[in-house]
Amino acid sequence: MSTSESIISAEQRYTSGLYPKRPVAIVRGEGARLYDAEGRAYIDCVAGQGAANLGHSHPAVVAAVQAQAATLMSCPEIFHNDRRAAYLAELTAALPFPARVFLCNSGAEAVEAALKFARLLTGRPGVVAARRGFHGRTMGALSATWEPKYREPFAPLVPAFSHVPYGEPEELAEAVGAQTAAVLLEPVQGEGGVRPAPPGYLEAARRSCDEHGALLLIDEVQTGFGRTGRLFAIEHSGVTPDVLILAKSIAAGLPMGAVAIHERLGPLPGGAHGSTFGGNPLLCAAASAALRVYQEQELPRQAAAKGAWLMGRLRELQLPAVREVRGLGLLVGLELKTRVQPYLQALLERGVLALPAGPTVLRLLPPLVISDDELAEVVDAVAAVLR
Ligand SMILES: *Cc1c(COP(=O)(O)O)cnc(C)c1O
Repeated sequence: MSTSESIISAEQRYTSGLYPKRPVAIVRGEGARLYDAEGRAYIDCVAGQGAANLGHSHPAVVAAVQAQAATLMSCPEIFHNDRRAAYLAELTAALPFPARVFLCNSGAEAVEAALKFARLLTGRPGVVAARRGFHGRTMGALSATWEPKYREPFAPLVPAFSHVPYGEPEELAEAVGAQTAAVLLEPVQGEGGVRPAPPGYLEAARRSCDEHGALLLIDEVQTGFGRTGRLFAIEHSGVTPDVLILAKSIAAGLPMGAVAIHERLGPLPGGAHGSTFGGNPLLCAAASAALRVYQEQELPRQAAAKGAWLMGRLRELQLPAVREVRGLGLLVGLELKTRVQPYLQALLERGVLALPAGPTVLRLLPPLVISDDELAEVVDAVAAVLR
């Protein structure tokens, strides 16, 4: 039996070094709980950084993966496949607009594809993104990501990207023009500090795009699949995007991404883009099972109710270390008066795993299946460490 200590020291010896890691070795998960090598339980408010909206080892997903693994795991998109055909029909039926879908393997890869499609479809180079926006770490996605510490070591990045302040419709309108291929926005900025779009902002972005013939790309990698209280966060607004970018919880914790392209843009030219693992039947089976659970168990509605309760409780406590509690559904941020890092460690010691969102924001991203009792335990732990 491995101990946490032996796991940590082995990993530290051989890991890339890219990730500042917490001193905990997770070996098992069930629902909203994770367990370390000694069997200690943690309430998980990280949820695989947003990939585990269904919690850990959801039985419906486990069963679908086991059955498909024994049937067919590899089938590139040069062939048709039953699981992929089924999932494409189910996903497009759940989307808020008629679409064709490109399947891939991660959030950055989905953003990357969406950027290429925007250039391909418009013949223009420009991309307008937002300050504090996060879209991933590959060269194209990184060019849209704002955080200088992620970008600067890798310059020069892809040309013709610009960043405007998030939530300011006039500055966005000024940045969009005849050379703009796309505007790329998150409906709630996740990594950038848990900042929901102000009312009317996404509508204004839609108008700016329409005025200049640019495409509106909405990055729902973190907000998708029920997280904010609707299946997709864009549904809180009346806006129809041209492209919707999905990943994280699409396959309940397995690596998958998708780009939904509005049907009016037509099929893309054959051979213009591709991916070996994209549309993989094992992942499609997992994503089908996950989508069924999101819908049948009304997880978006549960996220709305649980998130409202959580934010209400956190505000009522009037914790002196907290400047503001904000969010949408179960994407919740506490803006602190000081750096968040020591509080993450204190929460871990109390059995709650949480995330930062920038230097001073504590982000709570629990699985949508978290129980009311577990959520109350999270509130108690947060109150204890921030008091
Ligand atoms: C996490 C995230 C990405 C990148 O996804 P990866 O799967 O880590 O590449 C892109 N956009 C948003 C909004 C994200 O939260």
